Amino acid sequence: MRYLSTRGHADRKQFCEILLEGLAPDGGLYLPEHYPVVDAATLSAWREVYLKQGYADLAFEILSLYIDDIPADDLRALCRKTYTAAVFGSPEIVPLKKLQDAATDASQAGFYLQALSNGPTLAFKDMAMQLLGNLFEYELARRNEELNILGATSGDTGSAAEYAMRGKKGVRVFMTSPNGRMSPFQQAQMFSLLDENIHNIAIDGVFDDCQDIVKAVSNDLAFKRQYKIGTVNSINWARLLAQVVYYFAGYFQLPESATGGKASFTVPSGNFGNVCAGHVARMMGLPVHQLVVATNENDVLDEFFRTGVYRVRVGADTHETSSPSMDISKASNFERFVFDLLGRDAAQTADLFGRQLSDQGFFDLSAHPAFQQAATRYGFVSGKSTHADRLQTIRETYQRFGTVVDTHTADGVKVAREHLTPGVPMLVLETALPIKFAATIEEALGRPPERPPGFDGIEALPKRVKLMPADVALIKAYVAEHAH
Ligand SMILES: *Cc1c(COP(=O)(O)O)cnc(C)c1O
Repeated sequence: MRYLSTRGHADRKQFCEILLEGLAPDGGLYLPEHYPVVDAATLSAWREVYLKQGYADLAFEILSLYIDDIPADDLRALCRKTYTAAVFGSPEIVPLKKLQDAATDASQAGFYLQALSNGPTLAFKDMAMQLLGNLFEYELARRNEELNILGATSGDTGSAAEYAMRGKKGVRVFMTSPNGRMSPFQQAQMFSLLDENIHNIAIDGVFDDCQDIVKAVSNDLAFKRQYKIGTVNSINWARLLAQVVYYFAGYFQLPESATGGKASFTVPSGNFGNVCAGHVARMMGLPVHQLVVATNENDVLDEFFRTGVYRVRVGADTHETSSPSMDISKASNFERFVFDLLGRDAAQTADLFGRQLSDQGFFDLSAHPAFQQAATRYGFVSGKSTHADRLQTIRETYQRFGTVVDTHTADGVKVAREHLTPGVPMLVLETALPIKFAATIEEALGRPPERPPGFDGIEALPKRVKLMPADVALIKAYVAEHAH
């Protein structure tokens, strides 16, 4: 399998070549030349693999269709090392929890949460990042190279990256975050890591300042080359590929999967990475009826799926919400889907995401024949949720089912209910655990969420964090001093 750029002007590359890269050199995103399609016999064989041998072996089956340049035995070993019950909390790795009671319309085939948040940092990003850590270590050792990951986080990404890379040979992490803006739990999670290869940098500023610093450093090509600077952001194809696996694993846990029946997924969305993996799974032949994109007040994606207009928000139009990991002004993975939607026309994709977005800040596909196909052919629908919806959904889900959902998952549950199809089970992806966003849970339920075992008192652990001004030169000097 080779990989091409959505903008059509980059060389075709193999998996390990793009593993350590961000954007393609032409500014596009990498995608496989084609999606391998699996037939009913393969689906039922994979179902057996998952149910009898486990998630890691299912991951190997799927990944091996996309990765030619890692020997099969090594790839299987990497999957088995990553997806263990010890790290992800259960043998199923991504277990389903049914939310159904007598009050639910009997014609519904089932409403489920798919738990993706029982990894080390209690958010779904661990599912991909843990694999990425092992892939990086493997590939860097093979090349005898090192990598310094420079990132910006408002919470979930940074801690998932640090827990995945801690103690890994050849990798160092320099993670900037806005000082004092993450939840106390998130700060404790990140700053209590004392591993030598992990550097927390609290920036005196907001998240955008952190992102600007990372961009400025990445644009200094000489510095980037000298200090082997890399990223782990959500446009990395390996992250997206790792997420494809749990759509299959979710489906295989349904009774319908024995007969090839369909299921729908609702995905709390920000940068469109998670739901794009669902799109890939569907293109591979997973029987997905609908992919429901759930947004919060930052409804860039909902607006597109409703109207055909994709309008990037300016800073002042980007809201700080109680589901902060979905607070985006643009969806960095969206270009991948639009490329497929336009029949993989790279020239048109480059025109939309290159010229039109930079000239006018939006593009409009409402009159394009492809736009209707987003729903009819690709199964995409969408909805939006607000702070009031979130509180109401958290309360109701607790009262009816005794289950506390986090704020992002609540957005998913709210929007999923608006898109139920009789006879089709609905799986809502649970993207974080409530303890990460305790203040809003307390607002909804009048008491703080439960703390999973092993997280007691983490706020009191010793912290290692460097406080710095939002100054590119100083950050560069810090990286240069510690990047060896
Ligand atoms: C990152 C994140 C999301 C958004 O996922 P995307 O892949 O960016 O769409 C949703 N919920 C939580 C809790 C997250 O951490």
